[in-house]
Parts: sequence; structure tokens; C-alpha cells
Amino acid sequence: MDRILDRIAVVVVAAGSGLRAGGDRPKQFRRIGGESVLRRTLMTLVDLPFLSAVQPVIRAGDDALYAETIIGINTNVLHAPTPGGKTRQASVRAGLEALATRPPDIVLIHDAARPFVSRALVERAVTAAKKTGAAIPGLAVTDTIKTIDSRGLVGKTLDRASLRAIQTPQAFAFTPLLEAHRRAAREGRDDFTDDAAIAEWAGLQVAVFDGEPGNIKITHPEDFMRAESEQAALLSDVRTGTGIDVHAFGPGDHVIIGGLSIPHNQALTGHSDADVGLHALVDAILGALADGDIGSHFPPSDPQWKGAASDRFFTFAVERVKARGGMIAHLDLTIVCEAPKIGPHRDALRANIARLAGLDLSRVAVKATTSEQLGFTGRREGIAAYATATVRLPWS
Ligand code: MG
Repeated sequence: MDRILDRIAVVVVAAGSGLRAGGDRPKQFRRIGGESVLRRTLMTLVDLPFLSAVQPVIRAGDDALYAETIIGINTNVLHAPTPGGKTRQASVRAGLEALATRPPDIVLIHDAARPFVSRALVERAVTAAKKTGAAIPGLAVTDTIKTIDSRGLVGKTLDRASLRAIQTPQAFAFTPLLEAHRRAAREGRDDFTDDAAIAEWAGLQVAVFDGEPGNIKITHPEDFMRAESEQAALLSDVRTGTGIDVHAFGPGDHVIIGGLSIPHNQALTGHSDADVGLHALVDAILGALADGDIGSHFPPSDPQWKGAASDRFFTFAVERVKARGGMIAHLDLTIVCEAPKIGPHRDALRANIARLAGLDLSRVAVKATTSEQLGFTGRREGIAAYATATVRLPWS
């Protein structure tokens, strides 16, 4: 799929109050398997190389929840969220207007409440929209569908063969959809439940392509429970790895730990930037994967790693987990030294490690201790770091 020929954007509708799902926050901010619904949706979309823009639409007042949601997410194509309207339709229009200053060729409209959208489904949506100008995913209906009257009595039985249950992402040529939305707003029509209905009303032909049974919409509390247990079953090969690293002090005015520069009257010496914290974490993650160690992937004999920033080693290890279809469930790092004092930097370290790993802050722990002036750390000869990584993988 060619990003250069077509600009393809996606509007992610996350402006609902989501009350039917229960809980203390809108459903798009509730978690499944430790990741919020919206975060899961965005994480899938921002990594698709053929998308030029991801435009979230959120409720006014949900900014703090949103900021928490995107910690560590790749923001290359992620636009700042735009506030939604009173209805889903108004929220979609707000998203389209936000994109209109630099209009894409194709726009996809996706409900944040469908967090299991797959790359294959998005690709089918784009391909279909390029062909027809408007295309929506549909699933054959397996239940028999009947109409009922106001007394609950059956009116008629519909022909199942001609019925489809419709999902998102729905994909459209951008300009005609924007025009249809603007016209509907002008004419006071605010009762459309999906974008295909607006397109149909505007006289556009809408094609249906194959949806995915796994692309469920999270609506009721039991949807969370089902999704939660499915995720747990999927990633039930739970591994723990440990990593240890030591670097000696030498001349300098700061040390680098966890990717951050901490002022000190000495520096740590080493072939790379001597980031003792990230090195221990890399070995912990690689240990959980049974995938060698930092030295086997980045040999100190190789001049290209001289002075290298260790976040490259760390993101490499994180990518190795993703490549296995897994997730990092938890990282725990302990720094041992008499000085510098780590405590004042602990929150910043956690945040930076979470950002580099693309993890929620609740999955990263940083601790610090002295060794009571005993041993090499006690004699202030260097810093030691101990890390544990818990990784969840699919059984293979
Ligand atoms: Mg090291």
C-alpha cells in the first residue's frame, strides 16, 4: 500500500460517555489486559505505515485521561485530539473538519470502542474505498433476525442472506464525506448512527467488504470481561528475566541512567553511554525471551556502538518482544549506589522508561538503595543495577 500516492487518514471517535459499560470512567478509558481501550486502538493505528494522520476526537474534559492514554505511544502521525460534539455524528464531523486544512484522499472513521481492529482489516478498508469511494466492513448474520411491533409480537422474519452486521473502520473518499456531513449539519439531520448512513443519504454508493469477527465493539460490562479473558488466554506464556549491570566511575560531571542525565561529580565509564539502568533492563527483557544478551546483539568490539545512546539497545529489546507477538507486563529496576541520590529522579526515570518502552506508567518500577558503604558501590567506585522483566508471550 503506497503512502506516497495517497494520503490516508483515520478519525478515531472516542468522545462518548460510555455509561452502558459501567465503571468510573468512559469505556474508552477503561482497561483490558492492562491497556485502555483507546490506547489499544491508537497503538494499532499509529504503527500502520500507510497512514498519514490519526485524528482522535475526545470529549471536552477528558484531556487528562487522554494524556495518560498516549504515554509512550508513537506520535509521528498522531494529531492532537479535537473536542467532539453532542452526538457521534457531530464528533465525526469535528474530526473531519480538523483534517480539512490538509485534506487526505481517503479517510477512515473508526470507533475507539473496537480496540481489536487488525492491520489486515484496515488494509481491506483502504483498498475497497480506493475502488468504490465508500466502503464498510460487514459480517454475515448467524442469528435469525425478526422485526417486532410495540407489543413485542413478531412482525416478520428477515432474509438472513441479505443482512450484514456493520462494523468500523468505514472508509471514504475524504471530500464527498466531508461535504455530506456539512450538508447534514446544515439541514439539521443529526440522527445518523454511522457514516455510511450519511453517505447513503447524500446519494453515495457504499460497498461492503468482509469485516472480522474479532473486531468486537466493547459496549457492556460483560464485553470487558470476555475481552479480558481472551487477552489473558492469548498471552499466557508468562516469562521472567533478570539483568545485572555494573559500570565504574571516571571523570565527568553527570551519569546517564534510564536514558536521563543526572548531575554528579563523576561519570560512568563504558563503551556506550554506560547507562547501567537501561543495560540491566535490556538483559532482563532478553532473558525473558531467552534471546541472548546485550553483548551478543551489540558486541563491544563493534565500533558502531562506541558512545551509543543506550535507548537504542532498549528499544531493540522492546521490539524483540513485539516481534514475538508479546507484551512487557512489568519492568522493575533497582539502582545501587551511594551517590548520586536517585530518589529525587525516580519519577522522571519511571516516566522515561515507560515512554521508551511504550508502557503504561503502572508497569514500570524504579527503586534505589545504597549498599551501606560496603563493597564497590559502598566505596563509590561505580554503580550497579538489577532489573527484572515480566514478559507475556503467545504459546508457540
Ligand atoms: Mg553495561
